[in-house]
Amino acid sequence: MDALLEKLVEENRPFTREGRVAGYIPELAKADRDELGICVVSSDGRISSAGEYGRTFTIQSIIKPILLLLALMDNGEDTVRARVGVEATGKPFDAINYTDQALLSEHLNPMVNMGAILLCTLIHGTSYPQRLERLLELTRRLAGNPSLSVDEAVYRSEKQTGSRNRAMAFLLESCGLLHDDPEEVLDCYFRACSIRVDCRDLAHIACTFAVRGRRPPSGEQLFPARYAHYVNAVLMTCGMYNGSGDFAVKVGLPAKSGVGGGIMAVSPARMGIGIYSPGLDEKGNSLAGIRLLEQLGRRLSLSIF
Ligand code: GLU
Repeated sequence: MDALLEKLVEENRPFTREGRVAGYIPELAKADRDELGICVVSSDGRISSAGEYGRTFTIQSIIKPILLLLALMDNGEDTVRARVGVEATGKPFDAINYTDQALLSEHLNPMVNMGAILLCTLIHGTSYPQRLERLLELTRRLAGNPSLSVDEAVYRSEKQTGSRNRAMAFLLESCGLLHDDPEEVLDCYFRACSIRVDCRDLAHIACTFAVRGRRPPSGEQLFPARYAHYVNAVLMTCGMYNGSGDFAVKVGLPAKSGVGGGIMAVSPARMGIGIYSPGLDEKGNSLAGIRLLEQLGRRLSLSIF
């Protein structure tokens, strides 16, 4: 596996130049566009990696499946389902799904910002810093990495430039969907997006979703199997922004991308995959990362279809 990953990284490295590093959060613009890394954790716990797999970057939207998982663990499926819908939006991550006079829960999706901002309000805790701490703790547990933490510089950068997310939170409030102080909720969301991870962390997290809540190789059950099904289903239909349909055809795996350049892909029962390459395509997905994943998927027949 290591040799295959090395070969695919070298073959795809030239495509890193075709991507563009996210510039709308100034701190993200500092990333090195030429980097490409991958880590795979198999269902029996074997780890393989290649390229810049140890480079850290902010998790960005890849926190959304973990946010959804914690909301499910805290509230159960019915409550979460009633507050945030699951229909694919076919829209960019920061789209305002508001075409009618009324914005309803069913217009939201956990994998795009409006839905994810609302999910922060469903996390249990007596304060927003405490909710964030519980989310960080779960992320550490899934990744098997107790040292994960928030990148304060990226958090501040995102907070300063987050007018669109702010608009979404206030719209949610005005439509009666968000009941807490929007600024506190946004603070939790911005910090959650600013957790620093590497490809190994993403691969370990993805692997827990691949093996239905267990952590290989011990088999310790970290969360109910049913919630892995729920999260994977939403990832499959809406995890890659408005590129989700194209990604389903090309790769055929539940996956989530982030504007920091990460991709987390779930190969059910087989493996978790973490990829990093900060050059993005026009939809905000890692350009070389998707190519690499497409080729790995073909070589190993990973598509679930
Ligand atoms: N923190 C980013 C935002 O809300 C996340 C976007 C993403 O990775 O898709 O703008």
